[in-house]
Amino acid sequence: MLDAELLQKIRLNLETKISRKKTDIKELKELTKPISPENAIGRISRMDAINNKSVNEAALRNAENKLVQLERSLSEIDTEGFGLCRQCGEAIETEKLMVMPESFRCVACTKSMR
Ligand SMILES: [Zn+2]
Repeated sequence: MLDAELLQKIRLNLETKISRKKTDIKELKELTKPISPENAIGRISRMDAINNKSVNEAALRNAENKLVQLERSLSEIDTEGFGLCRQCGEAIETEKLMVMPESFRCVACTKSMR
């Protein structure tokens, strides 16, 4: 079990990350709006816009996945299994939990997955 002070830090960290992610998603949604027709902007800049749009769409999908993970972590923070590795059941390193509170695996198991 993690001590209360550490859990509180992780909770704050998760909340900060979640609100940042939500801002990111809002911005990315703006950037991935349909592109105006060809006569509105030049052909080259339209091609640029299409390229940027697919980059931004990928970033948006990543951000949305991350948000789901962060929210799941936050919802599980008070459960007994929080902070334990899903794979080996050992406690996840404190440093890792602080940096990546959405992680469900310890450092060793994360490495062995690659
Ligand atoms: Zn592990």
